[in-house]
Amino acid sequence: MPKLPIIPSDALTQTGQVAGPQRTLRAAQFADLGFDTLAVRAGQHRTNEHEHSEALFLTSSFTYNSAQEAAQSFDGTLFGANIYSRFSNPTIQMFEERLAALEQGERCVAAASGMAAILSVALAFLAAGDHVICSRAVFGTTTSVFEKYLTKFGVITTFVDLTDLNQWQQAMRPGKTKLLFCETPSNPLAEVADLRALSALAHQHGALLVVDNCYCTPALQRPLALGADIVVHSATKYLDGQGRALGGAVVGSDKLMQDVFLVMRACGPSMSAFNAWVFLKGLETLKLRMQAHSQSALALAQWLEQHQAVERVYYTGLPSHVGHELAKTQQSGFGGIVSFVVKGGRAAAWQVIDSTRILSITGNLGDAKSTITHPATTTHGRLSVEAKQAAGITEGLIRVSVGLEDYADIQADLARGLNVLG
Ligand SMILES: *Cc1c(COP(=O)(O)O)cnc(C)c1O
Repeated sequence: MPKLPIIPSDALTQTGQVAGPQRTLRAAQFADLGFDTLAVRAGQHRTNEHEHSEALFLTSSFTYNSAQEAAQSFDGTLFGANIYSRFSNPTIQMFEERLAALEQGERCVAAASGMAAILSVALAFLAAGDHVICSRAVFGTTTSVFEKYLTKFGVITTFVDLTDLNQWQQAMRPGKTKLLFCETPSNPLAEVADLRALSALAHQHGALLVVDNCYCTPALQRPLALGADIVVHSATKYLDGQGRALGGAVVGSDKLMQDVFLVMRACGPSMSAFNAWVFLKGLETLKLRMQAHSQSALALAQWLEQHQAVERVYYTGLPSHVGHELAKTQQSGFGGIVSFVVKGGRAAAWQVIDSTRILSITGNLGDAKSTITHPATTTHGRLSVEAKQAAGITEGLIRVSVGLEDYADIQADLARGLNVLG
């Protein structure tokens, strides 16, 4: 049996920033390997030191043996030589190749944060006069990018209901609409978009479908296989999974990613090598973690659904959820985020939150540590009353990102406040 294709250091210079035949060959070599094998092995470059774990290249620039070699590196005749870590760094490349393999994309471009990834997609594929259709239920800051900043450059966005295909169709402006953007399942209410239908609509009009896959990660859902053109990630969440570092990524075809790469090179919203190393290690346990998150989240959703103090539970793993059947056709698991509405509005919700001893009160999600959030006054606090109502963000709504603690302890932590209410 030949060894897995770990690239020795003297070949590093051939696997640089430009997608080439070798990268394609390696993707093909990985094709028959399972997800967990890829998560642990894909993309590793081993140096002459023969290190077992992935090396961390904390260097901003790279050196050459001669003036001529430098010149050839800069003009591209020395193919793929590392130049500068804003756009080429071996540790970042390892992360990119590993995530590309997991998402079943040809190429990945890493970014400094999830927002940097989304901005890079916008810079790569939109120009003044272009039109975007975006689901209303996206990460709040994503809305700001489209609504507040891209409008400054003449890009107009129409916001539609994630699950209402009619609204997507009606918003389409033939010849102008270049991008459809969504997140599925949405956060915090776990609405599910029909990715196959959205991709058909986008392609019928020559537009790209971009999916933020932060909630499920490739361990539970692979949008590219369902017809999406581009996947974006906030690596800050589950890809790290331990709340340590900010990062983002864009995944898609070699052709599309070359445009995103050129944005990264010129505009510089690039990932740090240190963070890439953290995420590489995070990816190794991604599926194990997502399965554990999903298992505890399902148990919690089922328990909450029968609790007297709870009015409603939003979790796609529950047959009562409107997106359950569709989620089953797109996802191999239901994820770690459970939202529920307590009877008694804000006062009751705050009481449940303040009664917890283990869960962290924070706006973040996707961590080994369970987190609890009151969306109406934090993550969605800046929305107008009407906008909150339209988005289903009621005063009694609580979001829990279920972590990796013992399930019984998570449930008991919530039971303390809930049992007083009901
Ligand atoms: C957090 C988040 C982002 C933004 O990512 P950052 O890494 O914080 O910039 C984008 N999309 C979703 C779904 C997120 O949860």
